[in-house]
Amino acid sequence: MPTTTTDILIIGAGLAGLSAANDLQQAGHQVLVVDKGRGLGGRLAGRRIGDATFDHGAQFMTAREPRFKAAVADWIAAGVAEQWYSSYPGQPNGHPRYRGVPTMTAVAKHLAIGLDIMRATRVVTVSRQQTGWLAELDNGNRVSADKLLITSPVPQTLELLKGINIPADKYARLEHIEYESCIAVMAILDGPTAIEAPGAIALEEGPIAWISDNLQKGVSTVPAVTIHGSGEFSAEHIDHDRTQIGQQLIDAAAQYLGSAQVTEYQVHGWRYSKPSIVDPDPCLLLSHGTDLPPLAVAGDAFAGPRFEGAVQSGWAAAKMLMDAHS
Ligand SMILES: Cc1cc2nc3c(=O)[nH]c(=O)nc-3n(C[C@H](O)[C@H](O)[C@H](O)COP(=O)(O)OP(=O)(O)OC[C@H]3O[C@@H](n4cnc5c(N)ncnc54)[C@H](O)[C@@H]3O)c2cc1C
Repeated sequence: MPTTTTDILIIGAGLAGLSAANDLQQAGHQVLVVDKGRGLGGRLAGRRIGDATFDHGAQFMTAREPRFKAAVADWIAAGVAEQWYSSYPGQPNGHPRYRGVPTMTAVAKHLAIGLDIMRATRVVTVSRQQTGWLAELDNGNRVSADKLLITSPVPQTLELLKGINIPADKYARLEHIEYESCIAVMAILDGPTAIEAPGAIALEEGPIAWISDNLQKGVSTVPAVTIHGSGEFSAEHIDHDRTQIGQQLIDAAAQYLGSAQVTEYQVHGWRYSKPSIVDPDPCLLLSHGTDLPPLAVAGDAFAGPRFEGAVQSGWAAAKMLMDAHS
């Protein structure tokens, strides 16, 4: 069975994994990132349907911490991000919202430059070796690494860690983390929506949490909306017939679509969309205080349930792994 060897294996090419990989590689470590997805960015997701383009995962990022603000400024300079808007229509909320250009995934693609990434490859199991970790991949190959960072949504991480002797207190913290689900509808329209500038609406009640007009946003060249079901609605319907659930959300969005008719739609179910219960630490070194080789977990469930949190968690995990000794 072919085995690739690296200093540090990172599972997940989402924001946390890519951010950690950049810091570790810049510090001189050999890093390999493996992701089961064909695209990069995890929950930063874009899709094309015919001539329409959609952001159907994360819709925007906000920036609070200085290092993250500087990163956003770099992305804007590189042409992969721009300010979308600074307040919801009718609400005095001046926090700038930035978007990826042309789609949110552009930021992930930018972060991936120069990294060694295996895409469309799932890590099936991880096991400890004498001095490191061995990951078995779904293509039959294996990766041997001194240190391991896992950035998948935590329930998936717990699946991977089955059989690894994690300290009980840390295991309990991982089990405590919870996520909302989100059903995302991507609908192509035959004309413009009735949504006012800047082309997005967040709703507090009912089956819909968010609607964005990808044409106004600058993502699509033809009228196209993304509709996100609320956490409650999505949890109830995530395993139901997708076509029917999509139609239900489209019907509920009627007043925002105006006279435009839906000509085609697709539905994506995010079982783990945004964390609803997060861990207070920015990442966890699960191997700390054990005889396990260095093993860390990171992602938006640690530094905060959003884009910025995922990046900061990746940075924190990189630092923690640099300091952890095999
Ligand atoms: C519908 C939706 C809307 C959102 N809206 C916003 C928003 O507007 N603003 C905001 O700030 N945040 C938003 N978020 C949250 C934001 O997208 C996340 O916080 C962030 O992208 C999480 O990044 P991450 O690296 O922690 O995880 P992920 O992006 O989930 O990355 C984990 C990666 O691990 C990979 N993986 C998992 N298991 C394996 C395996 N066994 N082998 C190989 N690879 C594996 C996955 O394919 C994935 O790419 C939204 C999320 C969703 C889903």
